[in-house]
Amino acid sequence: MNIAKRQLAAAHSVYIACHIIPDGDAIGSLLGLGLALRRLGKSCTMACADRVPSRFDFLSGVHEIISQPPTTEEVIVTVDASDIERLGSLYDEAIFRCHPVINIDHHVTNTRFGTVNLVQPLPSTAEIVYTLIRRLGVQPDKNTATALLTGLVTDTRCFRTGNVTAAQLRTTIALMDAGASLTDITELIFNREPVSTICLWGRALANVQTHGRVIWTEIGRDMMRGCGASPNEGDGLVSFLASTMGVDAALVFREKDDGRIEVSMRAGPGWDVSGVALQLGGGGHPRAAGCTVAGEMSTVRERVLGAVETALQGQSTRNS
Ligand code: 5GP
Ligand code: MN
Repeated sequence: MNIAKRQLAAAHSVYIACHIIPDGDAIGSLLGLGLALRRLGKSCTMACADRVPSRFDFLSGVHEIISQPPTTEEVIVTVDASDIERLGSLYDEAIFRCHPVINIDHHVTNTRFGTVNLVQPLPSTAEIVYTLIRRLGVQPDKNTATALLTGLVTDTRCFRTGNVTAAQLRTTIALMDAGASLTDITELIFNREPVSTICLWGRALANVQTHGRVIWTEIGRDMMRGCGASPNEGDGLVSFLASTMGVDAALVFREKDDGRIEVSMRAGPGWDVSGVALQLGGGGHPRAAGCTVAGEMSTVRERVLGAVETALQGQSTRNS
Protein backbone atom coordinates (compact mmCIF):
# COMPACT_ATOMS: atom_id res chain seq x y z
CA MET A 1 0.00 0.00 0.00
CA ASN A 2 2.82 2.40 0.89
CA ILE A 3 4.70 1.92 -2.38
CA ALA A 4 1.50 2.34 -4.40
CA LYS A 5 0.68 5.46 -2.40
CA ARG A 6 4.15 6.94 -2.99
CA GLN A 7 4.11 6.21 -6.72
CA LEU A 8 0.67 7.73 -7.17
CA ALA A 9 1.49 10.74 -5.00
CA ALA A 10 4.55 11.46 -7.16
CA ALA A 11 2.88 10.91 -10.56
CA HIS A 12 1.47 13.75 -12.67
CA SER A 13 -0.42 11.47 -15.04
CA VAL A 14 -2.02 8.11 -14.35
CA TYR A 15 -3.69 5.55 -16.64
CA ILE A 16 -6.28 3.32 -14.96
CA ALA A 17 -7.66 0.19 -16.61
CA CYS A 18 -10.39 -2.22 -15.55
CA HIS A 19 -11.31 -5.66 -16.89
CA ILE A 20 -13.24 -6.69 -19.99
CA ILE A 21 -17.02 -7.20 -19.80
CA PRO A 22 -16.99 -4.78 -16.86
CA ASP A 23 -19.19 -5.18 -13.79
CA GLY A 24 -20.02 -2.63 -11.10
CA ASP A 25 -16.85 -3.26 -9.11
CA ALA A 26 -14.66 -2.79 -12.19
CA ILE A 27 -16.38 0.46 -13.22
CA GLY A 28 -16.85 1.72 -9.65
CA SER A 29 -13.19 1.14 -8.76
CA LEU A 30 -12.04 2.70 -12.05
CA LEU A 31 -14.12 5.85 -11.62
CA GLY A 32 -13.62 6.08 -7.85
CA LEU A 33 -9.85 6.05 -8.20
CA GLY A 34 -9.85 8.29 -11.29
CA LEU A 35 -12.07 10.98 -9.73
CA ALA A 36 -10.09 10.91 -6.47
CA LEU A 37 -6.73 11.30 -8.24
CA ARG A 38 -8.10 14.19 -10.27
CA ARG A 39 -8.98 15.91 -7.02
CA LEU A 40 -5.26 15.73 -6.21
CA GLY A 41 -4.61 17.62 -9.45
CA LYS A 42 -3.43 14.64 -11.47
CA SER A 43 -4.25 13.99 -15.09
CA CYS A 44 -6.12 10.70 -15.19
CA THR A 45 -7.07 8.48 -18.11
CA MET A 46 -9.73 5.85 -17.36
CA ALA A 47 -10.06 2.90 -19.70
CA CYS A 48 -11.99 -0.29 -20.37
CA ALA A 49 -11.60 -2.42 -23.51
CA ASP A 50 -15.32 -3.23 -23.68
CA ARG A 51 -18.35 -1.00 -23.88
CA VAL A 52 -19.63 0.11 -20.44
CA PRO A 53 -23.19 -1.20 -19.88
CA SER A 54 -25.77 1.59 -19.85
CA ARG A 55 -26.88 0.68 -16.33
CA PHE A 56 -23.76 2.55 -15.12
CA ASP A 57 -24.72 5.78 -16.94
CA PHE A 58 -25.65 7.37 -13.59
CA LEU A 59 -22.00 7.36 -12.49
CA SER A 60 -20.13 10.60 -12.94
CA GLY A 61 -17.22 10.32 -15.39
CA VAL A 62 -18.55 7.18 -17.08
CA HIS A 63 -18.63 8.86 -20.51
CA GLU A 64 -14.94 9.73 -20.22
CA ILE A 65 -13.91 6.06 -20.18
CA ILE A 66 -11.90 5.30 -23.30
CA SER A 67 -10.98 1.95 -24.89
CA GLN A 68 -7.39 2.67 -25.99
CA PRO A 69 -4.15 1.41 -24.41
CA PRO A 70 -1.91 3.78 -22.40
CA THR A 71 0.25 6.31 -24.25
CA THR A 72 2.23 8.95 -22.35
CA GLU A 73 0.97 8.38 -18.79
CA GLU A 74 3.65 7.87 -16.10
CA VAL A 75 1.97 5.18 -14.03
CA ILE A 76 -0.44 2.38 -15.00
CA VAL A 77 -3.01 1.10 -12.50
CA THR A 78 -5.23 -1.93 -13.07
CA VAL A 79 -8.37 -2.47 -11.00
CA ASP A 80 -10.36 -5.68 -10.41
CA ALA A 81 -8.32 -7.64 -12.97
CA SER A 82 -6.91 -10.96 -11.73
CA ASP A 83 -4.60 -11.45 -14.70
CA ILE A 84 -3.26 -9.32 -17.53
CA GLU A 85 -5.47 -11.00 -20.17
CA ARG A 86 -8.49 -9.58 -18.32
CA LEU A 87 -7.48 -6.15 -19.69
CA GLY A 88 -8.27 -7.33 -23.23
CA SER A 89 -7.06 -4.94 -25.94
CA LEU A 90 -5.81 -2.38 -23.36
CA TYR A 91 -2.79 -4.57 -22.69
CA ASP A 92 0.15 -3.57 -24.86
CA GLU A 93 3.20 -5.53 -23.78
CA ALA A 94 5.75 -2.98 -24.99
CA ILE A 95 4.09 -0.13 -23.05
CA PHE A 96 3.38 -2.12 -19.89
CA ARG A 97 6.96 -3.46 -19.75
CA CYS A 98 8.49 -0.01 -19.32
CA HIS A 99 6.00 1.48 -16.82
CA PRO A 100 5.26 0.94 -13.14
CA VAL A 101 2.07 -1.15 -13.01
CA ILE A 102 0.02 -1.02 -9.79
CA ASN A 103 -2.25 -4.07 -9.69
CA ILE A 104 -5.21 -3.41 -7.36
CA ASP A 105 -7.44 -6.46 -6.98
CA HIS A 106 -9.33 -8.73 -4.60
CA HIS A 107 -9.29 -12.11 -6.41
CA VAL A 108 -7.52 -15.02 -4.67
CA THR A 109 -6.41 -16.18 -8.13
CA ASN A 110 -4.59 -12.89 -8.89
CA THR A 111 -1.36 -13.64 -10.79
CA ARG A 112 0.49 -10.65 -9.26
CA PHE A 113 1.44 -9.31 -12.68
CA GLY A 114 2.10 -5.77 -11.42
CA THR A 115 5.35 -4.15 -10.37
CA VAL A 116 3.35 -3.39 -7.22
CA ASN A 117 0.53 -5.72 -6.21
CA LEU A 118 -2.15 -4.38 -3.92
CA VAL A 119 -4.11 -7.61 -3.67
CA GLN A 120 -6.35 -8.21 -0.67
CA PRO A 121 -9.09 -10.86 -0.39
CA LEU A 122 -11.84 -8.35 0.43
CA PRO A 123 -15.38 -8.64 -0.99
CA SER A 124 -14.70 -5.83 -3.50
CA THR A 125 -11.81 -4.04 -5.17
CA ALA A 126 -13.62 -0.75 -4.45
CA GLU A 127 -12.79 -1.12 -0.73
CA ILE A 128 -9.05 -1.36 -1.47
CA VAL A 129 -9.37 1.75 -3.63
CA TYR A 130 -11.20 3.50 -0.78
CA THR A 131 -8.38 2.74 1.69
CA LEU A 132 -5.77 3.86 -0.85
CA ILE A 133 -7.40 7.21 -1.59
CA ARG A 134 -7.88 7.89 2.12
CA ARG A 135 -4.13 7.20 2.61
CA LEU A 136 -3.48 9.68 -0.20
CA GLY A 137 -5.40 12.23 1.83
CA VAL A 138 -8.53 12.35 -0.33
CA GLN A 139 -11.89 12.67 1.41
CA PRO A 140 -14.23 11.27 -1.27
CA ASP A 141 -16.85 13.63 -2.65
CA LYS A 142 -20.35 12.46 -3.57
CA ASN A 143 -19.38 11.22 -7.05
CA THR A 144 -16.33 9.30 -5.84
CA ALA A 145 -18.29 7.79 -2.93
CA THR A 146 -21.12 6.78 -5.28
CA ALA A 147 -18.71 5.01 -7.65
CA LEU A 148 -17.01 3.11 -4.80
CA LEU A 149 -20.26 2.12 -3.10
CA THR A 150 -21.52 0.86 -6.47
CA GLY A 151 -18.50 -1.45 -6.55
CA LEU A 152 -19.06 -2.72 -3.02
CA VAL A 153 -22.80 -3.19 -3.48
CA THR A 154 -22.37 -5.02 -6.82
CA ASP A 155 -19.76 -7.53 -5.68
CA THR A 156 -21.58 -8.31 -2.42
CA ARG A 157 -24.90 -8.58 -4.31
CA CYS A 158 -26.26 -6.03 -1.89
CA PHE A 159 -24.46 -7.39 1.20
CA ARG A 160 -25.75 -10.92 0.60
CA THR A 161 -22.49 -12.78 -0.13
CA GLY A 162 -20.88 -14.94 2.57
CA ASN A 163 -17.82 -12.69 2.88
CA VAL A 164 -19.62 -9.59 4.24
CA THR A 165 -18.52 -8.49 7.71
CA ALA A 166 -18.93 -5.37 9.81
CA ALA A 167 -15.97 -3.90 7.88
CA GLN A 168 -18.05 -3.60 4.67
CA LEU A 169 -20.87 -1.98 6.62
CA ARG A 170 -18.42 0.51 8.17
CA THR A 171 -17.05 1.42 4.73
CA THR A 172 -20.62 1.75 3.48
CA ILE A 173 -21.46 4.16 6.29
CA ALA A 174 -18.36 6.24 5.48
CA LEU A 175 -19.32 6.35 1.79
CA MET A 176 -22.92 7.26 2.62
CA ASP A 177 -21.66 10.00 4.95
CA ALA A 178 -19.62 11.24 1.98
CA GLY A 179 -22.84 11.58 -0.04
CA ALA A 180 -23.48 8.21 -1.73
CA SER A 181 -27.11 7.08 -1.77
CA LEU A 182 -27.48 3.36 -1.05
CA THR A 183 -31.14 3.56 -2.10
CA ASP A 184 -30.33 5.06 -5.50
CA ILE A 185 -27.50 2.61 -6.16
CA THR A 186 -29.48 -0.51 -5.27
CA GLU A 187 -32.44 0.75 -7.31
CA LEU A 188 -30.32 1.55 -10.37
CA ILE A 189 -28.16 -1.58 -10.23
CA PHE A 190 -30.64 -4.25 -9.17
CA ASN A 191 -34.11 -3.03 -10.10
CA ARG A 192 -33.70 -2.00 -13.74
CA GLU A 193 -33.51 -5.20 -15.73
CA PRO A 194 -34.35 -4.74 -19.42
CA VAL A 195 -37.12 -6.89 -20.90
CA SER A 196 -34.45 -8.69 -22.94
CA THR A 197 -32.88 -9.95 -19.69
CA ILE A 198 -36.20 -11.31 -18.44
CA CYS A 199 -36.67 -13.03 -21.81
CA LEU A 200 -33.20 -14.57 -21.53
CA TRP A 201 -33.77 -15.77 -17.96
CA GLY A 202 -37.06 -17.32 -19.05
CA ARG A 203 -35.42 -19.34 -21.80
CA ALA A 204 -32.38 -20.27 -19.71
CA LEU A 205 -34.48 -21.31 -16.70
CA ALA A 206 -36.64 -23.50 -18.92
CA ASN A 207 -33.52 -25.58 -19.67
CA VAL A 208 -32.06 -25.92 -16.17
CA GLN A 209 -30.48 -29.29 -15.47
CA THR A 210 -29.12 -30.89 -12.34
CA HIS A 211 -26.63 -33.65 -11.78
CA GLY A 212 -26.03 -34.66 -8.20
CA ARG A 213 -25.53 -31.42 -6.32
CA VAL A 214 -24.57 -29.36 -9.38
CA ILE A 215 -27.11 -27.22 -11.25
CA TRP A 216 -26.50 -25.63 -14.62
CA THR A 217 -27.99 -24.09 -17.72
CA GLU A 218 -26.86 -22.81 -21.11
CA ILE A 219 -27.30 -19.58 -23.04
CA GLY A 220 -26.67 -19.98 -26.76
CA ARG A 221 -26.04 -17.20 -29.28
CA ASP A 222 -29.45 -17.92 -30.78
CA MET A 223 -31.07 -17.20 -27.38
CA MET A 224 -29.12 -13.95 -27.03
CA ARG A 225 -30.20 -12.89 -30.53
CA GLY A 226 -33.80 -14.05 -30.05
CA CYS A 227 -34.16 -11.93 -26.89
CA GLY A 228 -32.19 -8.96 -28.27
CA ALA A 229 -29.78 -9.30 -25.32
CA SER A 230 -26.32 -7.71 -25.09
CA PRO A 231 -23.18 -9.56 -23.79
CA ASN A 232 -23.55 -8.82 -20.04
CA GLU A 233 -27.18 -9.81 -19.81
CA GLY A 234 -27.86 -12.95 -17.86
CA ASP A 235 -25.15 -12.00 -15.34
CA GLY A 236 -27.25 -12.53 -12.21
CA LEU A 237 -28.64 -15.87 -13.33
CA VAL A 238 -25.85 -18.04 -11.94
CA SER A 239 -26.25 -16.60 -8.42
CA PHE A 240 -29.98 -17.24 -8.63
CA LEU A 241 -29.32 -20.88 -9.58
CA ALA A 242 -26.86 -21.17 -6.68
CA SER A 243 -29.66 -20.21 -4.29
CA THR A 244 -31.40 -23.54 -5.04
CA MET A 245 -31.80 -25.65 -1.91
CA GLY A 246 -29.51 -28.70 -1.75
CA VAL A 247 -27.12 -27.44 -4.43
CA ASP A 248 -23.34 -27.10 -3.90
CA ALA A 249 -22.41 -25.50 -7.22
CA ALA A 250 -24.16 -23.65 -10.04
CA LEU A 251 -22.87 -23.08 -13.57
CA VAL A 252 -24.02 -20.99 -16.52
CA PHE A 253 -22.48 -21.67 -19.94
CA ARG A 254 -22.82 -18.75 -22.33
CA GLU A 255 -21.79 -18.78 -25.97
CA LYS A 256 -19.87 -15.62 -26.83
CA ASP A 257 -19.89 -13.82 -30.20
CA ASP A 258 -16.49 -15.33 -31.02
CA GLY A 259 -17.91 -18.83 -30.44
CA ARG A 260 -15.99 -19.49 -27.20
CA ILE A 261 -17.93 -20.48 -24.10
CA GLU A 262 -17.95 -18.23 -21.05
CA VAL A 263 -18.49 -20.22 -17.87
CA SER A 264 -19.80 -18.59 -14.69
CA MET A 265 -19.45 -20.62 -11.52
CA ARG A 266 -20.87 -20.23 -8.03
CA ALA A 267 -20.34 -22.44 -4.98
CA GLY A 268 -22.27 -22.93 -1.76
CA PRO A 269 -20.79 -22.25 1.69
CA GLY A 270 -17.64 -24.30 2.31
CA TRP A 271 -17.06 -25.14 -1.39
CA ASP A 272 -14.44 -23.65 -3.68
CA VAL A 273 -14.69 -23.35 -7.49
CA SER A 274 -11.80 -20.90 -7.96
CA GLY A 275 -9.30 -23.75 -8.46
CA VAL A 276 -11.34 -25.27 -11.31
CA ALA A 277 -11.71 -21.86 -12.97
CA LEU A 278 -7.97 -21.24 -12.68
CA GLN A 279 -7.17 -24.69 -14.05
CA LEU A 280 -9.39 -23.90 -17.08
CA GLY A 281 -7.59 -20.61 -17.75
CA GLY A 282 -9.87 -18.30 -15.73
CA GLY A 283 -9.98 -17.22 -12.11
CA GLY A 284 -12.09 -15.63 -9.42
CA HIS A 285 -13.04 -16.18 -5.79
CA PRO A 286 -13.70 -19.43 -3.87
CA ARG A 287 -17.47 -19.07 -4.24
CA ALA A 288 -17.68 -17.02 -7.49
CA ALA A 289 -15.36 -17.74 -10.38
CA GLY A 290 -15.33 -18.04 -14.14
CA CYS A 291 -13.40 -18.88 -17.26
CA THR A 292 -13.72 -18.72 -21.03
CA VAL A 293 -13.10 -21.96 -22.90
CA ALA A 294 -12.75 -22.60 -26.65
CA GLY A 295 -14.85 -25.38 -28.16
CA GLU A 296 -18.38 -26.54 -28.88
CA MET A 297 -20.97 -25.93 -26.15
CA SER A 298 -21.55 -29.64 -25.47
CA THR A 299 -17.83 -30.47 -25.33
CA VAL A 300 -17.05 -27.55 -23.01
CA ARG A 301 -20.04 -28.37 -20.82
CA GLU A 302 -18.96 -31.99 -20.32
CA ARG A 303 -15.36 -30.99 -19.66
CA VAL A 304 -16.25 -28.30 -17.12
CA LEU A 305 -18.93 -30.37 -15.38
CA GLY A 306 -16.40 -33.19 -15.04
CA ALA A 307 -13.78 -30.85 -13.60
CA VAL A 308 -16.26 -29.30 -11.16
CA GLU A 309 -17.49 -32.70 -9.98
CA THR A 310 -13.92 -33.90 -9.44
CA ALA A 311 -13.09 -30.73 -7.49
CA LEU A 312 -16.18 -31.06 -5.31
CA GLN A 313 -15.44 -34.73 -4.64
CA GLY A 314 -11.93 -33.73 -3.59
CA GLN A 315 -13.38 -31.21 -1.16
CA SER A 316 -16.17 -33.42 0.17
CA THR A 317 -14.07 -35.19 2.80
CA ARG A 318 -13.03 -31.78 4.11
CA ASN A 319 -16.65 -30.62 4.19
CA SER A 320 -18.23 -33.75 5.63
P1 5GP B 1 -18.96 -13.91 -13.21
O1 5GP B 1 -19.46 -15.31 -13.11
O2 5GP B 1 -19.76 -12.96 -12.39
O3 5GP B 1 -18.73 -13.48 -14.62
O4 5GP B 1 -17.52 -13.94 -12.57
C1 5GP B 1 -17.29 -14.39 -11.25
C2 5GP B 1 -15.88 -14.09 -10.87
O5 5GP B 1 -14.98 -14.85 -11.67
C3 5GP B 1 -15.51 -12.63 -11.05
O6 5GP B 1 -14.80 -12.24 -9.91
C4 5GP B 1 -14.64 -12.60 -12.26
O7 5GP B 1 -13.64 -11.67 -12.13
C5 5GP B 1 -14.07 -14.00 -12.34
N1 5GP B 1 -14.03 -14.43 -13.75
C6 5GP B 1 -15.06 -14.67 -14.57
N2 5GP B 1 -14.65 -15.02 -15.79
C7 5GP B 1 -13.29 -15.00 -15.76
C8 5GP B 1 -12.26 -15.27 -16.72
O8 5GP B 1 -12.49 -15.63 -17.89
N3 5GP B 1 -10.97 -15.10 -16.28
C9 5GP B 1 -10.68 -14.73 -15.01
N4 5GP B 1 -9.41 -14.57 -14.65
N5 5GP B 1 -11.62 -14.49 -14.09
C10 5GP B 1 -12.91 -14.63 -14.44
MN1 MN C 1 -14.63 -7.34 -8.23
